[in-house]
Amino acid sequence: MDCCLSEKYQWCKALPADYEDEMGDIFCIFHAPATNKGPFHADEFNSMVFELIHEKTKAGEPCSLAGTVFEWEISLKPFAKEIPLNGISFAEATFCHSVNFNHLIFSESVDFSGATFLEKADFEYIQFHGDALFKEAIFYGDAYFFDSIFSGKADFNKVVFDKFVYFSVGAFRGGGNFDEVRYGNKIIFKRLVIE
Ligand SMILES: [Zn+2]
Repeated sequence: MDCCLSEKYQWCKALPADYEDEMGDIFCIFHAPATNKGPFHADEFNSMVFELIHEKTKAGEPCSLAGTVFEWEISLKPFAKEIPLNGISFAEATFCHSVNFNHLIFSESVDFSGATFLEKADFEYIQFHGDALFKEAIFYGDAYFFDSIFSGKADFNKVVFDKFVYFSVGAFRGGGNFDEVRYGNKIIFKRLVIE
């Protein structure tokens, strides 16, 4: 049986679907809800994520992790600076713990549309050479965008920043959409280059 989200997200069909939730729905390891990922722990799960990104990058293909439930803290540090990554979709993904995208370079569009960040999200010194799509993402923890370069479209339409959001020093070169954004208790936008 395929993962019950394989029709919706179209990228996990070939994966074994060995994880069942309380409702009896069957999932692949990526889409399985937090606490339903069997015996896996942070390191093993994150290694599978890295492997997928690495394979797609090597093949020059875009990578989808849409809908993935990241149960554990994750840092994409292994990919920082060395290789520009292709486009990755994290659309509708859930990051249950803190996430670190610092120093990454994306050569194509990156999609975080509808993603949920339950804890701190770090996007410092990141370079988006394609579009950066955050439409309707929800940040329940602090979000840090220090020296982040957006060369394509930066779409933050209807994003919710529940706590602290920090944009400083970076650049918006392809225009930014911050329409209908909901801000939390602290917002800092300073020394940004807007072209
Ligand atoms: Zn799946």
